[in-house]
Parts: sequence; structure tokens; C-alpha cells
Amino acid sequence: MIGLISATAAGAAARDRLAAAWPERTRVYEGPVGEAVRAAFAECEQVVCFLATGAVVRLLAPLLAGKAADPGVVCVDEAGRFAVSLLGGHGGGANELAREVGEVLGAEPVVTTATDSAGLPGLDTLGLPYEGAVAAVSRALLDGEPVALEAEVAWPLPPLPVADQGSYTIRVTDRAVPAGEREVLLRPPSLVVGVGASKGAPAGEVLALVEGALREAGLSSASVAELATVDAKAEEPGIVAAAERLGVPLVTYSAEELAAVEVPNPSDAPLAAVGTPSVAEAAALVRGGELLVPKRKSAGRPAMATCAVVRRPGRGRLAVVGLGPGARDLLTPRAAAELRRASVLVGLDQYVDQIRDLLRPGTRVLESGLGAEEERARTAVAQAREGHAVALIGSGDAGVYAMASPALAEASDDIDVVGVPGVTAALAAGAVLGAPLGHDHVSISLSDLHTPWEVIERRVRAAAEADLVVTFYNPRSRGRDWQLPKALAILSGHREPTTPVGVVRNASRPDESARVTTLAALDPATVDMMTVVTVGNTATREIAGRMVTPRGYRWQASQEGAE
Ligand code: SAH
Repeated sequence: MIGLISATAAGAAARDRLAAAWPERTRVYEGPVGEAVRAAFAECEQVVCFLATGAVVRLLAPLLAGKAADPGVVCVDEAGRFAVSLLGGHGGGANELAREVGEVLGAEPVVTTATDSAGLPGLDTLGLPYEGAVAAVSRALLDGEPVALEAEVAWPLPPLPVADQGSYTIRVTDRAVPAGEREVLLRPPSLVVGVGASKGAPAGEVLALVEGALREAGLSSASVAELATVDAKAEEPGIVAAAERLGVPLVTYSAEELAAVEVPNPSDAPLAAVGTPSVAEAAALVRGGELLVPKRKSAGRPAMATCAVVRRPGRGRLAVVGLGPGARDLLTPRAAAELRRASVLVGLDQYVDQIRDLLRPGTRVLESGLGAEEERARTAVAQAREGHAVALIGSGDAGVYAMASPALAEASDDIDVVGVPGVTAALAAGAVLGAPLGHDHVSISLSDLHTPWEVIERRVRAAAEADLVVTFYNPRSRGRDWQLPKALAILSGHREPTTPVGVVRNASRPDESARVTTLAALDPATVDMMTVVTVGNTATREIAGRMVTPRGYRWQASQEGAE
């Protein structure tokens, strides 16, 4: 919950806008400001004060407990120009909150924590539990001192500007090693603990078993991702309580699913009780991984619980990101976030240039020239399979005549895939031209590189007959100049010579140009590979220089009737 406090009328107005934007997340504190700030600070995870920073500092100073405990606090000035992350930038999430508040109110976020201002992710905000010398290692990263990354477990981390060797270390490990003086340990959620228990097994016995198994195997409980068991034990109090105390979810599988898992130590007892020869080992292994601790029994007499520990391989992450048509403000915030999250970026060199400034220091960029599509797709998938966080980029929408298909054709289910949509050229051009896509429309690529011309021609013919608005991608290149005239001729067979045609070159880029002409008047020689060509349907009109396709045909009939 985010507590909101204001003192003046202007502050209250901004506060109300924020409350209206986030009705579920916010709570307004009314009344005397001092009391309101103190109450919000005590009751909320985060606080936004529409007050001077000085006033807030004085009010909160006596209440500060430490950065792990204090809420994040953001101050917004009277004019609503700045959202200042005042307190709890990382741990309290105030830096992120300042950014979000800034977006809602149109205020500029002000962030002073070093790692964020330098574009480095804070080591404490990577989403992984951490231990050790966070401040010292962050400072080393900022100062450009060599910091080595020792990834004992491959995990899809955001980029970090690390060196092969260094006097500081970031170690990604699930082993229970102590952090060195100049070392940060990141704990990937790589361990799964399978548990089985007889009815009524005490929580203490289950917990002692799990903790003992981790300790003896030299594993860190901070890396336990989940407890796993059989469906029949989903509500077994001892298991539920153990999961709660470890702070991890309890995941259950059907006996059938577990019975199908090959395990080193099956036995008859669970088979009779719940229908699978193994619970602990099978539940730990069912999603794959390496068995680190084979089944062991608890210390009770009789032993009422079993457990086994498995290390799951890190799942790589492939984000397929559309960059939009060119202009920076047509690149979505989600696309920008994915670019900053990836430690490996794969793309065509000219697209990489478009967004290089958004990348975090340390991002590994694998760029290649035109034509190397299959290779780019393979590279991106291979990097993700190695456990990295990869972004594969494409202009417009990465799924439209672009990299998403070859990449996903390569990908198996051992990686996570995230798609980020982008503004495709047809839409960018449509907005420039007016409203050409107001009724049913298709895109057709005129490139016969991947598609036989007969197929393309059949589709153009079908679109002509169906009276669809048509946007041609890849309309014409130096070596490919007869396809566009041919396609236009087919459309002309079904549409008037006066049908509006929009030609947009470099939509949303600095040298954008656009014109509306007609089927009869279009000179194909003015079209190139930077261009899309949108041909109207029989109802499309040019109105005040803009291309307008009515939303229905009846509109056209009534217009004509009125003439
Ligand atoms: N994935 C891209 C399309 C790739 S195919 C998208 O969704 O937009 C390449 C073709 O797209 C080019 O030949 C051109 O026809 C069109 N195109 C891409 N960006 C464009 C832009 N900014 N302006 C006009 N056409 C563009």
C-alpha cells in the first residue's frame, strides 16, 4: 500500500490524480500533516508526500529504523515538476516509485542513489537474495574497478559491467559459502526440495530434516525456490508450515506424474499410501535437474518425513522485442525495460544503433549485417539456452516479417520466451496518412525472397477481390522492381483509377515523407525498401489531403445519396 499525504490545494489535486490512477494501491491520509506522515510511514510499504523534502526529513528523522525496514519515500514538489526519491531508493523501491509517479503526474523523477543514476542495476534490486559487501562492490562497479562475475549457476541476470578477473567478485551460487570481504553472493532460486510426510508429521521434524539436508550438502536455504510434494499432501500441516517458515511456495504434483519419474530410491510404503513409489525424490526431480541430496529420512522414531534436494538448471529468457518504426517515443516503455534487462542483445546492426544508448553498461551486443537472419535467430536461442537473459530485436513489431518466427522455430521449451509488441510500419504509416485502415485490411510483403511469386500474386488477387485495404511491405528494391507495378495492376482490376494510395517513407524517422496519390498516378519508381504503400478499398476517399477509409460501406452510400 502507498500512503499519500498533502498539505496545500495544489498538492491535494496532484495527490487525487495519483489516487485516481492507482485506486487499489494507494491510501490517502488526511488530517494534520505531521500525524498523517507518521501514520503512513508506520502503516505503508511506500509513502508519497506532496510536501517539501525538508519538512518530510524533519518529520521522519526520529522514526528511521534502517534501509531494510523503512518504507520508500517519494516527495513531489508544489508545482508537480519533480518526484524525488528521498528515502529507501533500492530496498524501499523509492527510485522505481519516483519513476512511476513521474509518469502519472508528468513530473521528472529525481534519483540520487549512485547505481541508478549511472544506469547500473543496484545489486540489491536484481530480484535475487543477496549477501555480503553490497556497498563495496557497487562502489567498485561505479568507479570502474574490475569486478569479476563468478556464475556457479547460470542464471538470466541483467547486464553487469564485469571483467574476467577482479579484486571484487559477484558470485552467483546456491552453496552455503560465506561471502568474502570484497564479494557479493547472489542467491539464484535454483534448489527444489522434494518432501514426503506421513499423516500428522510435526512441522519441526519436517523443517529440521530439510534444514539438515541443506546444511550437510553445503547448500544455502536462500536458494530454495520451492518445496514440492504429491497432491495428496497439499494440506499436510507439517509440510505447509515448513514451506511457510522457509518462505517458499509449496508446489504439488499428481501421484501419476510422480510415478513416471525415474528415481534412485523408490519404495513400497508411499506406493501403498499415495500411489507413487517416490514422493520426495520424484517431486524434486519432476521438472528435471541434478539430484544433489538423495532421499533421506527425518530423525523421528518412526521417521515421519523424507526429503531430497535437486538443483534445477537456470532457465534462460528470450525477449523478442519490437522497437517500433524508428522514433524513440514510439518505442514502448516495456520494450525499453526489456532492453535494459537483457545481458545479451542480438540484432541487425542498424537496429542496434537505434537503441544503443538505452543499453546498460556491460550488455554483450551480438550484431550482424543484413541477411544473417537465421544465424541471428540461432544465436539468440543458443544464448538463452545457456541461461542468459537475451533480447532479440526487430524494427516495428518483431513478429511481423521479422525475427520472432525464425527464433521461435528454433526454441525449445527449456527457455522462457517473452514477446514485446511494437508499432509496425503499417500502423505508423496509417497514422501519418490519416485513417486508411478504418475497415478490414491486410499486409502483403512483395519480397519473393522467401515466398514464390505465385503465392504472393494469389494473395494480392484475393485481397483485390475481397476489397481489402492493402499495405505492401518490402514493396520495391533495386533488384526487385516489377512486383509492385504487377500488384497494383491486379488491384486496378477491381478498383477505380482514382482509389487513394498512400506512400510513406521512413515513417517516424527524421527524414519521414508521405504523400497521398491514386492508383493511376502512383509512380513505382518513387518507392523503395524504406517505404510502405497502402492502397485504399473502394470506399476509401481523400479528404483534406488525408486518406480516410470509412468504418462501413453504408456511410459511403449515404454520402453518395446526399450528393
Ligand atoms: N518488422 C517490421 C517490418 C520488417 S519488413 C515492422 O513491423 O514494421 C521491412 C519493410 O517494412 C520495409 O521494406 C518497409 O516496407 C517496411 N518498413 C519498416 N519500417 C518502416 C518505416 N519506418 N517506414 C516505412 N516503412 C517501413
